[in-house]
Amino acid sequence: MHQLTIAEVIRGLRDRQFSSVEITRHLLDRIQQLDGNYNSFITVTDQLAMAQAAAADARLAQGGAPALCGVPIAHKDIFCTSGVRTSCGSRMLDNFVPPYDATVVEKFNAASAVTLGKTNMDEFAMGSSNETSYYGPVKNPWNTDCVPGGSSGGSAAAVAALLVPGATATDTGGSIRQPAALTNTTGLKPTYGRVSRWGMIAFASSLDQAGPIARSAEDVAYLLTVMAGHDEKDSTSLNRPVQDYTLNLNDPIAGLRIGVPKEYFGEGLNADTAARIEDALKEFERLGAELVEVSLPHTELAVPAYYVIAPAEASANLSRFDGVRYGYRCEDPQDLRDLYMRSRGEGFGDEVQRRILVGTYALSAGYYDAYYNKAQQVRRLIKQDFVQAFEKVDVIMGPTSPSPAFALGAKKADPVAMYLEDIYTIATNLAGLPGMSLPCGLVNSMPVGLQIIGNYLDEARMLNVAHQFQQVTDWHRQHANLASAV
Ligand code: GLN
Repeated sequence: MHQLTIAEVIRGLRDRQFSSVEITRHLLDRIQQLDGNYNSFITVTDQLAMAQAAAADARLAQGGAPALCGVPIAHKDIFCTSGVRTSCGSRMLDNFVPPYDATVVEKFNAASAVTLGKTNMDEFAMGSSNETSYYGPVKNPWNTDCVPGGSSGGSAAAVAALLVPGATATDTGGSIRQPAALTNTTGLKPTYGRVSRWGMIAFASSLDQAGPIARSAEDVAYLLTVMAGHDEKDSTSLNRPVQDYTLNLNDPIAGLRIGVPKEYFGEGLNADTAARIEDALKEFERLGAELVEVSLPHTELAVPAYYVIAPAEASANLSRFDGVRYGYRCEDPQDLRDLYMRSRGEGFGDEVQRRILVGTYALSAGYYDAYYNKAQQVRRLIKQDFVQAFEKVDVIMGPTSPSPAFALGAKKADPVAMYLEDIYTIATNLAGLPGMSLPCGLVNSMPVGLQIIGNYLDEARMLNVAHQFQQVTDWHRQHANLASAV
């Protein structure tokens, strides 16, 4: 049962091949037996899951249940879950039990999906390797000596290890796409504002966006259909009609114009990764698409601009964690200053503190214009690059990540090397555009992801394009050589 895609689980439940209680029990057992190898979950919600599964079975029996009814999923531990600890991968929130659900969680609950638990992540979603988590690193199911990518590494690894068919995730600079690429899963970061951020712990508010990770574009479409939509509780959420993203998957893609940015194939891209991307582009030509060279001339400025904007916003967002109102408080504070200093010093890990320092500096009087304002101007130029490219093409394609998964510890001591992991994903967030990653081959037995960048609110077309690719290739069906359950 653990091999099934979401689409197959939906059919199996409706055909009474198995019940939600049965598949939920099976996956909970697998998590218990196998997740010691991967560390992809921070919290497993056994009792909640079994109760939700029983309720879903009752709803299915009545008929007319929503598509996701009874389907087991997991939530990144950045989404607030009522009554269930929500840590954001941090010691700061190790004891935080929210009294409410994030809008995304509420929507899945309303659809009677079953929550198996909360997945591991880089602390406050800052990282590209899942090594900054207070709960220890996540291991890549394809090779447990390697990282799964980050920050949504727990969601990606849980899906890749066949512990759950799909999971929620978030992407501020690549955190859905890069782990999807490194674990052979399919992930989509929607247009900024497409999915509500309410109840999703904020990292960089002008960049953060939630989306799904699953084992096929079709499954991602099922999950996005539940997640997307306007939310009056999030003033940045877009008030546009929602669509059923599963409806256009089989549209023909002949005549599709694919932009290939030359800046995404330069120095820094692993040669074998480049070859897998070229193979994928040829496959699209066979499907009737046309390749068009485009230029995104400000690409090299994306990482530097991001590492001003994201830390600046993070330093403001994380000021609420002061040892008074939420989460961790140090022992025996001498006075208020000592309470602040030690609560934040002990509650936050190194990477989070580094970002707060950088962000506070960039926003301080006298430096604001030189750094934050300048970075926002660069951001505008990056956005314009894409707007111009989309005058000529329907989608843009390139690598998701410059190389396959690297060894645990390999980049931990070198923040800049780690930051360059997101060289092809960050510009999309700066521009607010949707981006996805899907499996397109292996290099030394490790997965490679193809990135598809779409125009604003063009998620349906991206999923259509990805699904057509997955109809003629089977990379997404390949699984890691997993440890077996007893
Ligand atoms: N790796 C990037 C960072 O560390 C992006 C993280 C994310 O998308 N949440 O900030």
